[in-house]
Amino acid sequence: MEQKLLSLQDEAGKNLDQLVDAGQLEDFRIRYLGRKGLFSTIMRELGAVDQEERPRVGQLANTIKEEIEKLFDEKKALLGSSAQSGAKGASSIDLSLPGRYPERGRLHPVTQIMNEVCSIFEAMGFSVAEGPDVEQDHYNFEALNIPAHHPARDMHDTFYVSDSILLRTHTSPMQARIMESQQPPLRVIAPGKVYRCDSDITHTPMFHQVEGFLVDTKVSFADLKGILTVFTQKMFDKDLPLRFRPSFFPFTEPSAEVDIACVICGGSGCRVCKQTGWLEILGAGMIDPEVFKMVGYDPEIYSGFAFGLGIERIAMLKYGINDIRLYYENDLRFLAQF
Ligand SMILES: [Zn+2]
Repeated sequence: MEQKLLSLQDEAGKNLDQLVDAGQLEDFRIRYLGRKGLFSTIMRELGAVDQEERPRVGQLANTIKEEIEKLFDEKKALLGSSAQSGAKGASSIDLSLPGRYPERGRLHPVTQIMNEVCSIFEAMGFSVAEGPDVEQDHYNFEALNIPAHHPARDMHDTFYVSDSILLRTHTSPMQARIMESQQPPLRVIAPGKVYRCDSDITHTPMFHQVEGFLVDTKVSFADLKGILTVFTQKMFDKDLPLRFRPSFFPFTEPSAEVDIACVICGGSGCRVCKQTGWLEILGAGMIDPEVFKMVGYDPEIYSGFAFGLGIERIAMLKYGINDIRLYYENDLRFLAQF
């Protein structure tokens, strides 16, 4: 009988290890520990054991029964807790909660304005051209009628890479590059980054310009005025008066600084326009015959105009921002507003 009890304990232990759910656990309990179970069956033989042996065998039987019950309880607790944690895991998915959206990026305000400027001019038949940021002195200055030692070079605060290579100080080199390789009629805008050794509340060492030019026969200053009027109307969604002030650029003659009526006060005078009612937005003029000669166009046949505008300047006016550096500090609280 002792042998039977020990092998029952052994068998029960092995069986218990293989149980995986509550149903099997209940079957086990009935099979081993139930009233008609294996343990009870063996216990019925206790009467047949010798008188002297009976207490010892009885004690062994009790120990084994307790042992099996203990293992059974442990297994039950184990299966119960894993079943419970399974249920908990399932209930933690709350299908009624709103989804988590991935943060969406957006275009930088300067890029947005640049795209807008390009699309306004594209609608007027201009094509878009891009050129190198690292430019030859020749295209940045010489070909634009700014020879070495010309005083106009002083206005540019140029970053030189070597004597003849520099970071372009304006997008105007594209005028020379395109006219050199194509014949009129031309309508081109050239957006891009430009570089000047300058940094304060209205200047950053890198900023964006859009150069535009149109070359054909019989192009007049009136055409320039017309194109720029349409541009400012579309850009600022308002019919803003334009004002041309005489100016000087080596590659245009005559040259003008172009002002628009203040977008903030409409011309009555405010802090932004320094009480003048006007805001300068770009420089423009008729392309100098000297520039045409350098690219091999006959200035007797062709005429054209060119203009250059600062994208940050337009963005500042359009959104009423007074510090250009905000665009480059990468503060998402600022950038996310556009
Ligand atoms: Zn104003």
